[in-house]
Amino acid sequence: MNDFLCPKCKQHLRVGEHIIFKVKGAGKQSALLLLSPHIGNYTSIKHPSFEFKQGDTLEFFCPLCGASLKSDIHPNLALVLMKDETGKGFAVYFSQVAGEHSTYETDGDSVHIEGEDAGRYTYFKIGEKFKKYF
Ligand SMILES: [Zn+2]
Repeated sequence: MNDFLCPKCKQHLRVGEHIIFKVKGAGKQSALLLLSPHIGNYTSIKHPSFEFKQGDTLEFFCPLCGASLKSDIHPNLALVLMKDETGKGFAVYFSQVAGEHSTYETDGDSVHIEGEDAGRYTYFKIGEKFKKYF
């Protein structure tokens, strides 16, 4: 089972088959949003009172320490850390734009790309940024 960690407080964001985030929508309404821990699965779970439209840019936050998860690679991309069963660390970047399917998983050397919209953010260089997280 892969664990997902906040890059700031390093606490666990995965509970069971969900990664739990605090998000803010365009109207600054806050809510909890559950995403799948399986990269490439873009299903999400939220309370029906929290509404957003496809194309809205959401802001993702750690529900534990409250830190913004916005990456320093691109303002549309959020960052979480992932550890696999062997304890190997990865940085996982994903789009904060609702309905935009782009995810980048990197171990600092190579980048694994998922999602049909991933071509939008492929220009970044990860190596140096990655090293500070582990
Ligand atoms: Zn945190």
